[in-house]
Amino acid sequence: MPRDPRHDILFTPLQIGPKTAKNRFYQVPHCNGGGYRDPSAVVEMRRTKAEGGWGVIFTEQTEIHPTSEITPFIEQHLWDDRDLPALARMAEAMKSHGALAGIQLAYSGINGPNLYSREVPLAVTGGPILTFTSDPVQARTMDGEDIRNLRRWFRNAFRRSQQAGFDLICLYGAHGFGILQHFLSRATNQRTDDYGGSLANRSRFLREIVEDARETTKGELAVSLRMSLHEAGPYGFSNAELRDFIAMHAELPDLWDFAHGTWENCSGTSRFTPEGGQEDLVRGIKDLTSKPVVGVGRFTSPDAMVRQIRAGVLDFIGAARPSIADPFLPLKVEQGRTEDIRECIGCNICVSGDMTGAISRCTQNTAFMEEWRKGWHPERARPKGESGSVLIVGAGPAGLEAALQAARRGYRVTLAEATGTLGGRVARERALPGLSAWGRVADYRTGQLAPLPNVEIYRDSRMTPEDLLAAGADHIALATGATWRRDAVARRHLHPIPTDPAMPLYTPDDLMAGRIPEGRTVALYDDDHFYMGSVLAERLVRSGNRVHFVTPAVKVAEWTDNTLEQATIMRRLLEIGVEVHLSKGPETIGATEMTLGCVWTGRQTALPVEAVVLVTSRQPDDQLYQATKALDWRAAGIRSLTLIGDAAAPGPIAWATYAGRSWAEGLDMPDRGDTLPFRREIAALAPGLSLLP
Ligand code: ADP
Ligand code: SF4
Repeated sequence: MPRDPRHDILFTPLQIGPKTAKNRFYQVPHCNGGGYRDPSAVVEMRRTKAEGGWGVIFTEQTEIHPTSEITPFIEQHLWDDRDLPALARMAEAMKSHGALAGIQLAYSGINGPNLYSREVPLAVTGGPILTFTSDPVQARTMDGEDIRNLRRWFRNAFRRSQQAGFDLICLYGAHGFGILQHFLSRATNQRTDDYGGSLANRSRFLREIVEDARETTKGELAVSLRMSLHEAGPYGFSNAELRDFIAMHAELPDLWDFAHGTWENCSGTSRFTPEGGQEDLVRGIKDLTSKPVVGVGRFTSPDAMVRQIRAGVLDFIGAARPSIADPFLPLKVEQGRTEDIRECIGCNICVSGDMTGAISRCTQNTAFMEEWRKGWHPERARPKGESGSVLIVGAGPAGLEAALQAARRGYRVTLAEATGTLGGRVARERALPGLSAWGRVADYRTGQLAPLPNVEIYRDSRMTPEDLLAAGADHIALATGATWRRDAVARRHLHPIPTDPAMPLYTPDDLMAGRIPEGRTVALYDDDHFYMGSVLAERLVRSGNRVHFVTPAVKVAEWTDNTLEQATIMRRLLEIGVEVHLSKGPETIGATEMTLGCVWTGRQTALPVEAVVLVTSRQPDDQLYQATKALDWRAAGIRSLTLIGDAAAPGPIAWATYAGRSWAEGLDMPDRGDTLPFRREIAALAPGLSLLP
């Protein structure tokens, strides 16, 4: 199909200094939890972006010197020539389909605790390290010699970037993470020498470093500046000051790359931040410079992208998460297949991979970071094996992904769903406050399945063990989901607690089914610690309830630190009048009150309430699996019977889509026995062992 002419502008080449990007799709730097530890996994992930048509592709943050590193986060290193082979392979992969290859160079200053290198952190102005963890470490203020050293370290990095084959260098200032921003911001720059005070002085280091980059690379590489659009606080580098800075240095870099203030602000989840949410902060900046401007905003709609370019807000559409969820987004627009775009749902599960030092995964793109480890591809499926048909029971995220991947492999697929709606948990959760974009998990998959001739979908079909045996399928996957518990069992209580049946009890499933208390005083007990508790608190407030949010944790929704939402959730709860009880959990639930126990002292207090909502843990719905397994299913010609997704082990949606993919990928594959189910790289041992005398 030819592309929609309205989208033509997205495919006009544009010059970035000495280089030319083939189109306007610009994959901004993004972490992936693999970094230097998993070089080939990262290389192949970036290669899929090249294949998918991105015009510019960047590495994640690349740390240029051991005096600044952000362990436990795993990024890239460019510490010496030994880092070159992995980065050269990355540049080669990025350029494999005509994209420009970019490297983001970072020196973290006041943001880097140096837990691995043990070097003393160096900052524009010394003080406690400002990062996600309150490491008991301070940085030393750089003197003139330190600044000269830093310039030399950057020059080394510029030379090595060119040697590795990159086209673009991105100097990282944004998010409060990079030292360029620390120089600019009066919050982090309190110097009284030539590098502090006036804006011209605070800009000095940036001017020097851009000139150094040009000189070292003989002007052959393009240089971009990645800046925060707005830093909050009385001393922060505000949007107004940023505009002054750009007016003063309009032609300094070859490209301006903008990202909202902190990473939390910039990578807001769909629950709190709409698509294109940074437009107001970028609009008008293009009038200050002749250099191209790139901005982000979780753009998944080509129409929204075109509008930003036509309106003169942006020249390039920057994307991290949309490129993770769909590495083939540009190609799909180019081929007029916009309905095939696998839209990012804005859940930040990808971010959580970096935050936890695990390899990242994506709810929508199950192949993300498995391209090399498992040979999965975001678009292509391996050919089917010897058997012919599969039956999948349950059309939640796990079942839908299993069906889609099995169908793409060429199996005859039957998908049976008990209810009249496809989507399982996302069909229910998408109706909750702020979670509508999560429906894309179901929409993308049902949209892709619909035209496939080898797929039959049966709604309102609750399957029994006898149905399974009679279905005639070679392989059966049971993706029957899970149910929220109503006995308070989770982490704090491993066994049910005494509960008076006179107290009205609700679970998330009740609320999602429309059974919602109204105008009551409600205790919501959250021992789940992810999004559900706070989302339901919002829902309860909308129904006129007075809500007490009770959690044994020291903060609400504590796991959402990993999705960058925790502070926003806390603010939201306070703003809507929810009363928060931290470090407390119910000991008993009476007819008219909950007895709360302090997790530290055991001291008990009574909380009078009229209803209780338990957001605790989920019970797998595996009865169908267990009952079928007890029968002689092999005699019915069934080769495999497998429990997947929440029905096997409840988890986030991304775990369920992954499970669906994993099952479909494994169909008819040789038994791996005890071998590792993925590829990995192991650090090369140094030759021989020698201890210093
Ligand atoms: P997951 O996240 O693992 O995909 P979900 O709870 O989202 O799990 O989806 C499970 C789906 O399975 C639900 O849509 C549910 O209606 C369906 N289901 C459960 N039991 C049966 C059954 N016996 N036959 C058909 N569908 C079922
Ligand atoms: Fe988008 Fe979620 Fe995938 Fe991240 S994990 S790219 S936020 S869908």
